[in-house]
Amino acid sequence: MAGLFTALKLSPFPALVLASARPGASGSSAWAQGGIAAAMGAGDSWQSHAADTMAAGAGTCDPHIVELVTREAPARIEDLLALGAPFDRNADGTLALGREAAHSAKRIVHVKGDRAGAEVTRALAERALATPSIRILEGFHALELAVENGRVTGVFARYGTGHGTRLVLFRAKAVIFATGGIGALYAVTTNPLETRGEGLGMAARAGAVIADAEFVQFHPTAIAIGRDPAPLATEALRGEGAILVDETGSRFMPAIHADAELAPRDIVARAIHREIARGHKAFLDCREAIGAEFADRFPTVYAACMSAGIDPATQPIPVAPAAHYHMGGVASDEHGRTSLEGLWAVGECASTGLHGANRLASNSLLETLVFGARAADDVRSATTMQAAQGTPPAPERFNAPPPPKVMREAMSLNVGLERDEAGLKSALATIESVERAGAGEPALLNMTTAAKIVTAAALARHESRGGHFRSDYPQTDAVAKRSFLTLADTEKIVATSAASKVDAACL
Ligand SMILES: Cc1cc2nc3c(=O)[nH]c(=O)nc-3n(C[C@H](O)[C@H](O)[C@H](O)COP(=O)(O)OP(=O)(O)OC[C@H]3O[C@@H](n4cnc5c(N)ncnc54)[C@H](O)[C@@H]3O)c2cc1C
Repeated sequence: MAGLFTALKLSPFPALVLASARPGASGSSAWAQGGIAAAMGAGDSWQSHAADTMAAGAGTCDPHIVELVTREAPARIEDLLALGAPFDRNADGTLALGREAAHSAKRIVHVKGDRAGAEVTRALAERALATPSIRILEGFHALELAVENGRVTGVFARYGTGHGTRLVLFRAKAVIFATGGIGALYAVTTNPLETRGEGLGMAARAGAVIADAEFVQFHPTAIAIGRDPAPLATEALRGEGAILVDETGSRFMPAIHADAELAPRDIVARAIHREIARGHKAFLDCREAIGAEFADRFPTVYAACMSAGIDPATQPIPVAPAAHYHMGGVASDEHGRTSLEGLWAVGECASTGLHGANRLASNSLLETLVFGARAADDVRSATTMQAAQGTPPAPERFNAPPPPKVMREAMSLNVGLERDEAGLKSALATIESVERAGAGEPALLNMTTAAKIVTAAALARHESRGGHFRSDYPQTDAVAKRSFLTLADTEKIVATSAASKVDAACL
């Protein structure tokens, strides 16, 4: 969504979109279920949306960024409507707004219950394919930034299979990363397998500053039916009143938080994690709240459950937490600019300070839109471009090696919902050995670099906050600080990780 929306906003300025897989059908965007947050309902306000965002972010949101995102949200939804997004409407024609956890008002625009991501990306892809200034090169896998005299001047990408693979340098006046998150670096994730931190790794290898890398959000209710990636039971189900129960049917959330099932994500996820760690099971019981309407209102979740023989209208859904969203990413400012001249980052691969230590549900698609528009404006005013020319080639798709299982398992085990020093050091050792075995293969190097930065940042933060919980540092410091690390800082942390304590000086 970040890439397509930015290209559309750049139009009529020319944009070349390098996409390893089919735009509109790959990445997390097409899988998003809940929708997009924007204060558009009667009685709602951007100030209320901003306050909810700040509360979820556990002290490290950037208030300026939160204000501009929540203020600009309704205008970006209007943009999507103009581009053909088929948001659900009430009988009177107004937008139908849903409520999600930790939002104090109904403010989520959605499509057919849980099909927001699929339908909006489809609409954007259709529009982008029909826009003459946008040239989409499908099958090209970006591997490395070209940097000359300290400025990003292009990107190296690979296409083709076997002996036919080719490496091409695309020179550009502006490179905009929209490469998504890091979920598939974890063994248990809700993200599609192409979200493996490659943009973050590429940017870090070129010297970019990475922000808040330790803050990973785990979705509380992935459907636990043994699939990789794990299908998601959207937050909207709890918004509609579904409850979390153990194997005896007893609710466990009311004893943990005043908002019970609607508490912030990290609290719900850790509660479920601890239930499971104590030998219990966790289920999402939608029978009373949704019941017979399930198939119509939440068709995607319904299909996932039925594929495992579970009818959510009459049976509780088995759930477990899974890596879901990266609050951290390539540090970028209010225009999407990174610390490297010539490189912008938009969407989940960026870290703008909107989400702080914990993302509020449905704010991430919104972030792709707000910063897609802002980066496009900035790039347009910073550069002069010539029109894209020629017919796009139709190469065979280059399939990058998947992240090794041993690394994904180490991330889930030791860089997950509960972390401690010994586990994080053990994960770093695993990542280092995977990196050595990879012998410099660039796609793998991008993944190990991303995994290393997330783990090193988690090791260096000696407190618990938002999505980052250290069982050896359970307290939250009085002063909240974002973290900013380069790859060079990370290597220092890795080098000292054999010592007894890691210095938090880099944070
Ligand atoms: C199951 C699920 C449900 C969600 N529900 C919601 C929701 O309801 N509301 C919400 O706000 N957020 C939701 N999220 C989060 C949200 O979907 C993501 O944060 C958002 O889609 C990220 O968009 P993006 O455009 O930045 O990245 P993506 O949509 O992940 O796209 C990244 C693209 O980059 C491509 N790419 C990656 N690396 C390379 C490379 N090296 N070379 C070339 N191309 C590359 C990928 O193939 C992909 O096409 C959900 C996430 C998941 C997984």
